[in-house]
This record gives sequence, C-alpha cells and structure tokens, in this order.
Amino acid sequence: MARILITSALPYINGIKHLGNLVGSQLPADLYARYMRGRGHEVMFICATDEHGTPAELAAAKTGQPVADYCAEMHNTQAELARGFRLSFDHYGRSSSPQNHALTQHLAARLGEAGLIEEVSEEQVYSHTDGRFLPDRYIEGTCPNCGYERARGDQCENCTKQLDPTDLIAPRSAISGATDLEVRETKHLFLRQSTLRDRLDKWIDSQNGWPVLTTSIAKKWLHDGNGLQDRGITRDLDWGVPAQFDGAPWQGMDGKVFYVWFDAPIEYIAASAEWAEAQGLDDSAWRRWWRNDEGAEDVRYVQFMGKDNVPFHTLSFPATLMGSGEPWKMVDYIKSFNYLNYDGGQFSTSLGRGVFMDQALSLLPADYWRWWLLSHAPESSDAEFTWENFQASVNKDLADVLGNLASRVTKFCRSKFGEVVPEGGAYGAREARLIADLTTRLRAYEGHMEAMEIRKSASELRAFWVLGNEYLQDAAPWSTFKTDPEQAAAQIRLALNLIRVYAIVSRPFIPDAAASLMAAIGSDDWTWPEDLGAALYNLPAGHAFAVPDVLFAKITDEQRADWETRFAGAR
Ligand SMILES: [Zn+2]
Repeated sequence: MARILITSALPYINGIKHLGNLVGSQLPADLYARYMRGRGHEVMFICATDEHGTPAELAAAKTGQPVADYCAEMHNTQAELARGFRLSFDHYGRSSSPQNHALTQHLAARLGEAGLIEEVSEEQVYSHTDGRFLPDRYIEGTCPNCGYERARGDQCENCTKQLDPTDLIAPRSAISGATDLEVRETKHLFLRQSTLRDRLDKWIDSQNGWPVLTTSIAKKWLHDGNGLQDRGITRDLDWGVPAQFDGAPWQGMDGKVFYVWFDAPIEYIAASAEWAEAQGLDDSAWRRWWRNDEGAEDVRYVQFMGKDNVPFHTLSFPATLMGSGEPWKMVDYIKSFNYLNYDGGQFSTSLGRGVFMDQALSLLPADYWRWWLLSHAPESSDAEFTWENFQASVNKDLADVLGNLASRVTKFCRSKFGEVVPEGGAYGAREARLIADLTTRLRAYEGHMEAMEIRKSASELRAFWVLGNEYLQDAAPWSTFKTDPEQAAAQIRLALNLIRVYAIVSRPFIPDAAASLMAAIGSDDWTWPEDLGAALYNLPAGHAFAVPDVLFAKITDEQRADWETRFAGAR
C-alpha cells in the first residue's frame, strides 16, 4: 500500500466556477484520488477556496457584505457544489484559516532569516476616496499611445501597449471613479527567487516523466529574458495574512498582507492541518504527509492544475519550501491541463457564457457531467464542449452501453429465473475468451489511470463496457434459454457478476451510478478485481438482487436545443 497526497489547484472565491474550471483540476484530481483509494492505497486529497486578494474584496463590496462574511458564504456555496459533483476531498479548506495565517507567517519568517527576502521601496498610486493603494489594473485612464479612454494601468487593451499607471492621461480609480489619486512611496517584501534559480533548475531536471506542458512552462520562466525574477509577495490590502507579525524579521509592514499567490499554495499544507483539527487528531496526523522528517519521505505527492497555474507550482511555491530550509514534502508529479472551450468560444465568468457548476447540477445528475468532462479532458490540447457532443456521449456510452446492459440482464433474469443469481450450467470457452479480453482491457485501464492519462482511461473503460454488451449479443441468453436453460443461467450469472465488476471499475468516473449498480446487485464488496476470472464468481447462485432504476436517461433533441439557447450567454 502506497501513501498518495493529492492536491487540486484552489478555486478562487469570487463566484461559482464553470465546467472548464472544474475539469481543469478538481475533477481529474478526484478521479485519481478515487482510483487510488479503490486500489487500496492510503490517500490524502486536499482542496480549499482561495480567498485573499483584491478581486475578493471587490466582489464582496459589490454585494455590500464585509469581505469575511462574503468569503464564508461563498465557501459554503462552493463546498456544496463540490459535494454535488461528488468531489471526494478529505478536506475542503479555506486559505483564510488560522492555520494558513500561522504557516504563511512561519514560512515568510524562515525565508527572511535565510536572507531570501528583500525590502523594496516602490511608488504606487493611492486613492484618497477609496482609502487604499490601487493595484495597476484598478487604475483607468486615457492611453497616451492611442487615445483609448478606458486603458488600464498595466496595459491598454485597445492597442495592447504595456503601461505604467503614471503613463495614463486623466487617471481614475476603476473601483470608485475617484480622481484624487496620488503617487506615494510604499515598501514591499520581495522573495529573492533569482538566487534560487540553479536549485530550482536542478530540482526540475531531477524529476522523472513530468509532462512537457509542465516542464516547458517552468523552463521558460527560469531562462527566458533575464531569467527568474524576484517577486513581490506583499500588497497594500486589508484582507489577507498580515505581513507584520510577532517574530517577523522586518519592521514597517503594518497594514500590508501577503500577496495571494504567496499564501494560496501554502494552504495545501494548512488545509491538511485543518483536516487534522476537524478529525480531532493531533499535528502528527497531518505532518506525516508533509514533513520528510516526520514520515512524508515515502509519500507520493501529485498536484493537478490548469496550465496558467504551472509557474506558481513549479517555481514560486517550491522556492518558498526550499528556501525555508525545512524538510517540507515537495511535489513529485504535476498534472496540468489546457483549456476547455464552450461551443465555438470561451467559457466566460464575466459574460456568463457557458455552463456553471450550479446550473449543470440543476439540469442533470453529476455523473453525466463527470463522464463527458473526463472523457474529453483538455490534456494534450484545448477541448471544446458542444451540446451535440455531450448528448451523443451520454446517450451512447452511458445509456446505450452501460445502462442498457444492466437493465437488460437484470430484467431478463427476473422474468426467467427470479430476482436471484441463477444456478446451473458452467462458464465455457466463450466465457474464457471474454475473461481474457476483459483482463487485457482492465490492465490497460489500470496503466492509464496510474499514468493519469484521463482520456485514454475513459476510452479503455468504454471499451471494457462494450465487451460485456458484445458478449451478450453473441451468447444471446434469451435465445439460449429456449433450448438450454442451464447454459443461459450460467451466462446470466456471469453477466450479473460483470455488473458488480463494472460498478467497481467505473466508480472513479461515475460514483453515483456505481453505487446504484452495487446496491441493485445486492453487494457491498468493492474489492478491486485483480483476478477478473475469480471476480466473475463473486456472486454465488441464489444471491438476491433487484432490477435497478433507469441508470442513465437519454438526452432528447428538445432538451439539447433548449439548453443550447439558454446557455449562449448572459447568465
Ligand atoms: Zn492604447
């Protein structure tokens, strides 16, 4: 039994996530966690809401709520949706937790003591009306290059020129429209990542088999231009982890907090501490996952994320852990994803374009979405959601193949033998061939799942289901029954056992349907079918079962057309 630590990139707090976000980290991480648990490994699966930063403050201001209340409410909403999609986190934490405050300050202090933090004075725009410093992109004005009146302080989106806020003509606050802005000097902490460049480079080179998408992004940041740059890790904000604290090796940081990208990945560790507290366990329970000197040396740590998050996970976060001089567990494998597009364009949170997690669950149960999203995961390139493809995939794979098999076999058995596994006959050559074919497919499926090849896993699973249907077509127990009821009984006995095997093997993709199948078949034995032949003898003759309800309903053309129109934009 191995110990596997799995983290999913943290969803940001300011609103409900769309399906593209879901398939970009949380859902594939869940697939892997469920599979590893199914194989009997010890798994710690961690996620959390990422709650700090200016967008959270602005989103809260929009609702008129204090930011802490807003985040608490949105955390509950996101946690509820995660449960709805059956994301099986061991803990779904909050980056605003006391544990994350303490750990972020601890690591920052260690970095400071190691000489890896520098205090830098900068000029920044302060808004008197807003009572705060404004990040560059929250300052608007006229572009000196093209005259566009809504250019942002970091860039003009009309002519794409990179700007400094002081370049803007007639600058104003994008938050309030205020023009009483003033350039003030302010001091910030910078993480001296550049001094860790060679160590990071060597560390990345020492990793085996990381996806090209991951290493190429990291290498680009390490070596392009002037190489890895030092990074500001504080901001002039109220909401966040205070940068001035007891024991800090610096002064004068009052009123500043750590930058959200500094504290968010630390929350992976802190959320594990939150987990221990929630379980009533002491600190050693989580430290054995995270400290190499306290048991984490034999842990395999896998991270899931969208490609935009790769630089922070290959460089900034490792720099934090490495630079602390403490034996923290570093990531062993990074699984990163491209983007899922929506029906000829992009998902857009601001435009309300595409399907969001709450809307998806209001249309159909989680398994329908899980299956489509995972079997079309944007791994080697971007992928696209279309309603037509979704309908075809659900109707064909789930309803026609898997659902149909379960329904046909159980109904036929009930009508001819009653609701128990029938006795009589024996498996013969046809069954031996089926078992051999199933075994080949299953071993391939396991290989792809271990390697986190999500699309290949889905396609192998589909092929595994198809073999069962082909067997039934070929054996045709409904015909056999007329001439040789004993043999038909053996065929149905095998098929009923196969339903149980399907439940076990399909569970990481479609956990609810798997549970329904297992309940219908009257078993609670989820043991992985290492020996497939033996697994097909698991349910003995006389074992009672029930005909399951419709496992997957087909999506009609009317539904598809209706949904296409509803989700075209303007949520
Ligand atoms: Zn311009």
